[in-house]
Amino acid sequence: MQPVIPSRLQVGVDVPWVTSWSEEQPGGVGPCPTVDGQMAALQMWKPGVGKPLYSRNHLRRQRDSVRAMLCPMCGEPTPEGDRWSQTGRFQAAGVLRARGFAHALPADLDDDRVVLDCGAIAPLHFRCAQASLLRCPHLGGMPDKDLKAFPPAWTVVPLYVEAKQQVTGKSIPAVSFLQLIGLTITRDPDWRQRLAEG
Ligand SMILES: [Zn+2]
Repeated sequence: MQPVIPSRLQVGVDVPWVTSWSEEQPGGVGPCPTVDGQMAALQMWKPGVGKPLYSRNHLRRQRDSVRAMLCPMCGEPTPEGDRWSQTGRFQAAGVLRARGFAHALPADLDDDRVVLDCGAIAPLHFRCAQASLLRCPHLGGMPDKDLKAFPPAWTVVPLYVEAKQQVTGKSIPAVSFLQLIGLTITRDPDWRQRLAEG
């Protein structure tokens, strides 16, 4: 076996804190405090060991980032007023509902209310969002480079995978990642037109 040499890349500087590393193997499912003790997909915790897997978020760190508003780049808490999203998309709640995401939104949220769908990416500090944009070819290549202010209210939606219960072999749902949706106070009276625009 090859010895595992710690990477020279620095977590939180060269590689986002939320990124998985090759030595962080999946760890089955089990109760996880990030989802209040519900069953969740688990993964070993060895950031900085092996090679960074840029396209894969670490399961636990991703959930931590959304639950505790930790910046996915540096892993430190983001204070209200310094939460920024480049990849999030503003959409009316009605548009998301029409596209099958009704379960992701509070039932009492009006269809014309604009939300900021951040997917699985928690907001970053302004300085970290700017650094990411400069360093990451994927972010730099996106047509939308605007940093959007994350609103003070939000909702968290668990995304599930099917896991096998070890003893009985039965399928059980386990949380993989957490989706984050910011709730703005803006309304879009013409939201039905956006549906047609696609
Ligand atoms: Zn940060």
